[in-house]
Amino acid sequence: MKQIGLLNGYYSISSKFGNRDAPTEGASTFHSGIDIPAPEGTKLICIMDGEIVSTGWGGGSGYTITIKSIDGIYRFSYCHCSPEFIVSVGEQVKKGEVIGKVGPKNVYGITNNPYKDNNGNPTNGATTGCHCHFTIRKNGELIDPLEIIRKENIL
Ligand SMILES: [Zn+2]
Repeated sequence: MKQIGLLNGYYSISSKFGNRDAPTEGASTFHSGIDIPAPEGTKLICIMDGEIVSTGWGGGSGYTITIKSIDGIYRFSYCHCSPEFIVSVGEQVKKGEVIGKVGPKNVYGITNNPYKDNNGNPTNGATTGCHCHFTIRKNGELIDPLEIIRKENIL
């Protein structure tokens, strides 16, 4: 079955790219990407052919998967994802392929994780609930992911 979108079947953007009020302590007022809320376990879809450049803990970004486009121009990251990675560094991935899952809000086992919810439980980066924070860099500069998402006919 063909997978659709950035998160299979979830399209609504709760926070756009650019300046905003910080929604939670530790989150930046300049929003480096877009947020799409979706339940834990929602499939994350690769938006361009590329190669996995990193998978792991990204501090405020929580567990993160980063992909470099095949032409080397773009780097895009899926943040607050599941620590149960299904791709590994160096792996080639295709547009439309499932590369991971939305992670849980709370994660345990990170030493000195400074991010916590109102109950004091450690969170998957600076987050108030399950969502994908998606960023794209073009030649190293952050750009509005919607530009690419529209160009690639994704959402
Ligand atoms: Zn975000």
